[in-house]
Amino acid sequence: MRWQKQTLDVDDGALPGLERAGFVRSVRTPDFEGVTFHEVLCKSALNKMPQGSGLPFNWTINPMRGCSHACRYCFARGSHEYLELDAGRDFDTQIVVKTNVAAVLRRELHRRSWRREGVALGTNTDPYQRAEGRYRLMPGIIGALADSGTPFSVLTKGTLLRRDLPLLVQAARVVPVSLAVSIAILDEELHRGLESGTPSPRARLDLVRALAEAGFAVHVMVAPVIPCLTDGSAHLDALFGAIAAAGAASAVAFPMHLRGSTRGWFLEWLATHHPALLRRYRQLYGRGAYVTPEYAAWLRGRVEPLLARHGLHRERPVEAAPHREPDTGSRQPDPQLALFA
Ligand code: SF4
Repeated sequence: MRWQKQTLDVDDGALPGLERAGFVRSVRTPDFEGVTFHEVLCKSALNKMPQGSGLPFNWTINPMRGCSHACRYCFARGSHEYLELDAGRDFDTQIVVKTNVAAVLRRELHRRSWRREGVALGTNTDPYQRAEGRYRLMPGIIGALADSGTPFSVLTKGTLLRRDLPLLVQAARVVPVSLAVSIAILDEELHRGLESGTPSPRARLDLVRALAEAGFAVHVMVAPVIPCLTDGSAHLDALFGAIAAAGAASAVAFPMHLRGSTRGWFLEWLATHHPALLRRYRQLYGRGAYVTPEYAAWLRGRVEPLLARHGLHRERPVEAAPHREPDTGSRQPDPQLALFA
């Protein structure tokens, strides 16, 4: 195994939830202080979306579970609880890596029954989070999709995607490839507080520029917009301006949802850093996961003219949130709508 020499601690006893996921071993390495990788052998790589999800794609691939990008508002947090890990710090630091995902995918794509429907990456956790630099799962996935004639999309906050740009350009010659970058916050201090594991906003704008220069029509997800913190006209105007200047083809913006375990994890941060906003958040969210319709309409009214001013408007704006797979009870469709729409 590539990491053998760097392994500080190998735990042969799988966590109970991980046993079900095909656990092989846990690895820690000095390059990723505080992070444990749980290597698993997956049985399948393609995930079928539930019927009636209302999405323009039926399939997703998630090479990892958990995300060291550690966004406080991340929707995927609750998915860690299925592994009997917690949705807070464990989600950021206990990363499940499907080391055989590319090989399994290639087998699945070779089935006669495979219809070459579009496949979305980045709908749950970020495929270009830091661990990808070591495990290098994406080149195999991109190759398998392109070789099989399968269109695909990638949504990421990870500037590591640049490593695979030549491969993506090559893939786009044979199948439709859609690329989207998530940039929700321009302010560096707020970024460090809320998305501590992600590349800086400036680095992600540079990523947009690199993708656009490589010939992709890059879509940017300004999501989530965080009430009272990033919904000011000046912030949104500056952010959309920077996105347009970087060469993005389009952008969308959506208010933050606080569903399941994410709610407590985010509100704990808010209570520590912006206690004066708690009352306003109670008004906006009540006991639910979504902002009031009034706030959502107010935000749309603020965002639409800015999108138009910066030439980032899409014909079919969609409601969405960053990195999550839909559940049937959700009122909001998935961000990847924007990629295949
Ligand atoms: S929002 Fe995306 S990038 Fe951030 S922690 Fe969740 S999956 Fe990772």
